[in-house]
Amino acid sequence: MLRYNRDYEEDFGSCIQLIMRMSGGKKITLKCSSCSKQNIFYECEVDESFKAYFVVELWKRTKKAMQCGECLGVCDYFEIFPQERGLEEQLDAERKRKQAEVETQRKLNEEREKRLKEQAAQEQREKDRRRREMEVDDELAKLKRNMRTGMP
Ligand SMILES: [Zn+2]
Repeated sequence: MLRYNRDYEEDFGSCIQLIMRMSGGKKITLKCSSCSKQNIFYECEVDESFKAYFVVELWKRTKKAMQCGECLGVCDYFEIFPQERGLEEQLDAERKRKQAEVETQRKLNEEREKRLKEQAAQEQREKDRRRREMEVDDELAKLKRNMRTGMP
């Protein structure tokens, strides 16, 4: 039976594990490899995060585990329920596929917004150009009038 290290230090940070028992989770009686007794194991979730110098959280993941009710030793959930591994992988693949879909949609929206902005800027430039042309025309007309009347 595999036991997780509670906390382990690396050269540039440390891994922190938070173990939470699931309410209404699975229960199973097993011989515990840590305390060598027949105990009830409870389903729990292990949140693992890796923090560099306890400041920046670099990664976080949650995994299922079973915890001994006596010594609180933790073992891998899928070692005890290997038949559920396939289901979990399937759910995981589904989650990843949905995430990718959302990401693709987000990128499409971003590109569309960028195109609209570029279009608006182009229209503004065109408007400015026309206004300048009209100003030049007005200026010329004024000059012609002044030449005819001899007035400045
Ligand atoms: Zn135990």
